[in-house]
Amino acid sequence: MIIDVHCHLSHRDFYPDIYWELLAESLSKNLGIPGEQVLRDIMPDFWQKDASKIVEDMDNAGVDKAVIMPVDFELKVGKAKMSIEEQNLYHARAADEYPDKLISFASVDPRRGEKAVELLEKGLTEWGMKGLKFHPDAGYYPNDPACFPLYEKCVELDVPLLSHCGLIFIPFEVKYNNPIYLDDVQTAFPDLRIIAAHMGGISGTLTLAEIASLKSGISTEISYTGQMLARGAPRFLLNNLRMLMDLPLTFAVPFKNRILFGSDWPYANAMMEREDWVNWVKKLPKNGKEHGLKFTEEEVRLILGENAKKILKI
Ligand SMILES: [Zn+2]
Repeated sequence: MIIDVHCHLSHRDFYPDIYWELLAESLSKNLGIPGEQVLRDIMPDFWQKDASKIVEDMDNAGVDKAVIMPVDFELKVGKAKMSIEEQNLYHARAADEYPDKLISFASVDPRRGEKAVELLEKGLTEWGMKGLKFHPDAGYYPNDPACFPLYEKCVELDVPLLSHCGLIFIPFEVKYNNPIYLDDVQTAFPDLRIIAAHMGGISGTLTLAEIASLKSGISTEISYTGQMLARGAPRFLLNNLRMLMDLPLTFAVPFKNRILFGSDWPYANAMMEREDWVNWVKKLPKNGKEHGLKFTEEEVRLILGENAKKILKI
């Protein structure tokens, strides 16, 4: 079974125009075309990524289940047409529509205070959502006590936190995404299951190894950072995966049981389409061999789905 633990639906009304303009601006620098052209020619397709599109793409890529989640950027980029409550409900309804395929996580900025806790509780208890997504780069550190009531709720209702780590475009700030802050979170909430997204980020993979080698509650998923390195610097990715899985942990769950597959669909599609990414991971033994590293079929199975099944408790 293949489980993709990090995906999003995409709709123009999730964010105000300024967000799309800034995203288009980033993309335009790479493509060498004006931002207005990106907005006109590329974004409309990106805005159509609803439940039916993700399921169609999952079928093409051979992905059995995917975790979808909104992102609460309102306090950073301003109000969108759809409120964060409506966006959470939109994702929850998508999971209702495809109960065998889609699982939804809730997302809310902890700086919303009591309203954040209420929304998370409603999402988890009434709308069937199964976890919490954080994007700290909107302007908060995940070890900020303002986040704690949300973690208490996650522990109480036994769902994981998936926290974005590593790179992000303007106006969001990478400093908030350092996985080092998740160490405080795990220390304060030893029973909270934490998924450090994107392998902790490029430089953050080593930090992740540091904080998680003696703390079993922290796992990771390989989206975006993985696709980026697989495409441009595969040896670095293979070395990092091998390093994590070869660490002889004597006080914690081995890393081979804590690395999950993710694609950050549709945000990472331009980096590497999900189908190609699934196939790359399936070919880990062959890809590793080309760089003198040994990966087993068992490790592929664990990464592609077995680990997620346990960590998401599905
Ligand atoms: Zn994400």
